Amino acid sequence: MTTANPSRWTLVIHGGSGSMRRGVLPEAEDAGGRAGLKAALDAGAAILSAHGSALDAVEAAVRILEDDPLFNAGRGSVFTAEGRIECDAAIMDGATLDAGAVAGVRTTRNPITLARAVMEQSPHVFLAGAGADGFARAHDIEAAEPEWFETPERRRQLEEILARPDGAFDSGMKYGTVGAVAVDMDGHIAAATSTGGLTGKKWGRVGDSPLIGAGTYADDRACAVSCTGSGEYFIRLGLAHEITARVRLAGESIEEASDELIHELGEMGGKGGVIVVSADGSGGWAFNTPGMYRGMATHDAPPEIAIYDDE
Ligand code: ASP
Repeated sequence: MTTANPSRWTLVIHGGSGSMRRGVLPEAEDAGGRAGLKAALDAGAAILSAHGSALDAVEAAVRILEDDPLFNAGRGSVFTAEGRIECDAAIMDGATLDAGAVAGVRTTRNPITLARAVMEQSPHVFLAGAGADGFARAHDIEAAEPEWFETPERRRQLEEILARPDGAFDSGMKYGTVGAVAVDMDGHIAAATSTGGLTGKKWGRVGDSPLIGAGTYADDRACAVSCTGSGEYFIRLGLAHEITARVRLAGESIEEASDELIHELGEMGGKGGVIVVSADGSGGWAFNTPGMYRGMATHDAPPEIAIYDDE
């Protein structure tokens, strides 16, 4: 069931969860993160307030964060162990349950736009690797050289991880994946997520972000969800779909369902967070890390932007 309301909309975005602590996070990353979130919220809000679609709004918000080198998606993505950048993204339309996703993309500037093209212009849901980039070229989606995605800070982070004796991921690291969920004036909802994955990933590893049902899900009958964090745990819980199912089938609120799933994630050893909007217009988030870059804009309140857990 969707509830159209001609003046009502909500947009929630994230720029990743992780070890960000007040006074420890460098000032440039605090201010830069807030500015990036604000720009993304503004882009999505402009669409929603003009009676645009939730789908257009989440794509627009995520594109801004992909182009911002501070976030781990598109430009500024983390490096694989081999020193490459491989981007993953997914988008889902809650009105139709149409979905599109890509993994291991290397030469497409905005992976989220490619995911949307897979949804709208192919008979498939999920394309990977060189084939996905080839689909982008065949559909005139903007290309970028692999070097365009690279930043010195991400290179430094890779070197730090490779220098560790065990080469292990740091469970307290900053993640930085980006995502957006929205409900528009027609009561339709959508979700989008984009990421470079985990620093030092190997063997073609793909996380939860592009997996429909794990890191991204939207269903007008319930809610839209975008996740960030230690992807393997989100995959095992089918976390985004599980939140949607609880709201749809068990009548839980988005707060109850999100808090419960983040609790279960933590019990298993996972870290991260979710953003959620429900078809009735409410929005929110839950996370078990010290911080999560996040923001919310609605038809009737000034935009809210936060990083730390005490905000
Ligand atoms: N969830 C992403 C992944 O596992 C990482 C992140 O959120 O930063 O690929």
